[in-house]
Amino acid sequence: MNPTTPSNQSILIRNPAAVMSGRPGDQARLGQVDLRIANGRIESIAPNLTPLAGERVIDARDCVVYPGWVNTHHHLFQNLLKAVPSGINADLQDWLAAVPYPRLARFTPELARTAARLGMAEMLLSGVTTCADHHYLYHAHGTVETGDLLFEEAAAFGLRFVLCRGGALQSAGDHPGFSKTVLHPETLDQMLADIERLKARYHDSSAASMRRVVVAPTTPTFSLPPELLPELARAARGLGLRMHTHLSETTRYVDFCRERFGKLPVEFVADHGWLGPDVWFAHLVHLEASEIAMLAESGSGVSHCPVSNARLGSGIAPAPRMAAAGMPVSLAVDGVASNESGSMTHEANFAWLVHRAAHGAAATTVEEIIHWGTAGGARVLGLDAVGTLAPGQAADLVLYDLNALRFDGFHDLAVAPVAAGEPVRVRHSIVNGRVVVENGEIPGLDLEALRRDAAQGVRELLD
Ligand SMILES: [Zn+2]
Repeated sequence: MNPTTPSNQSILIRNPAAVMSGRPGDQARLGQVDLRIANGRIESIAPNLTPLAGERVIDARDCVVYPGWVNTHHHLFQNLLKAVPSGINADLQDWLAAVPYPRLARFTPELARTAARLGMAEMLLSGVTTCADHHYLYHAHGTVETGDLLFEEAAAFGLRFVLCRGGALQSAGDHPGFSKTVLHPETLDQMLADIERLKARYHDSSAASMRRVVVAPTTPTFSLPPELLPELARAARGLGLRMHTHLSETTRYVDFCRERFGKLPVEFVADHGWLGPDVWFAHLVHLEASEIAMLAESGSGVSHCPVSNARLGSGIAPAPRMAAAGMPVSLAVDGVASNESGSMTHEANFAWLVHRAAHGAAATTVEEIIHWGTAGGARVLGLDAVGTLAPGQAADLVLYDLNALRFDGFHDLAVAPVAAGEPVRVRHSIVNGRVVVENGEIPGLDLEALRRDAAQGVRELLD
């Protein structure tokens, strides 16, 4: 079985309490309708569909159906670095220096695999069906194998997967965190050779692709000399690959950019060919109005990571203003070493709340948050057949089980997973027409063995 090919099993999802489409505004709610899935696609959505001979029927009576979450920015290796004491009260810069960077060289392929499996399992059980991982465990004398194993594990879990191939091209003496890694950065040629290899082996540019490769240097100004940014952009566009990186996560970053280059960060990347509908940035917490206008005008997108930004004390990204300006907005958990949760349900709940706390009750709606976390994510990744529930779209969807005490008393169950947040159980999850969560469990996963591997991994990564 090739896990990237769609399942040809026909599935009928009957009688859900509510179905959300992933679209914004008046198009968000599909009401009480049944859904038929065949050959990896949604075949029909209508009330009272009749089961076909040989069809699997899922009774969704106590469930609401959402499009699967599209998590557009993760660092899966960080799943073995949650709540490291030396970083728990630190800001971004000190946290980078204390938590991930000193351990980069200690990540063997085995540890990277355990971390990825832990993260993928948690994501699936929170309703994620597509993940883009910003993977930067690369250095001159390391192995490129860790990128390959992410594709292998995503295929084993049945997750739609985008590898954002990160890494540094300078030793970043400017950055107090990276300078502690004692790692030698790759050369541009090494990075590009691996990107071309990954593209040839895994990349599928189709609208319902299960595997994509993205060019994603870790952070402009810190992880590569400015003159290499246009070269990477040219290479990415020549290969037909999208581009991703961190930007404007903290005021310190903005100040650095201003002092060093005399420009705001978005102006700086614009000058180096890094804006466009094929580019999206993680964070964008600190933006001037002129930068939002430039991003919107160019079609550049954002991975909004509100929990990580709050956890590190970085601020609250102006996601509602970015959306209002027309930017593609997506949601992401970021690495769980600065989140402590890899749940997109938790992220959506916090995203719904935090903008209302800061800017008033009109700042966000549940429908808009679902749109950001599903169709918005698919848009920044260029996966046009993903993120919305409609006939012809990829069959990526989640059945949240609301048959639990904490959901008794709800007048509107459609909003319950986002409004109430975790814990909420995913009863079934389907990716590409294939059932990847069955009755709250991941078929074929030895959970106890994975948890033992995780405990061992933490022991190996202790200070
Ligand atoms: Zn990140």
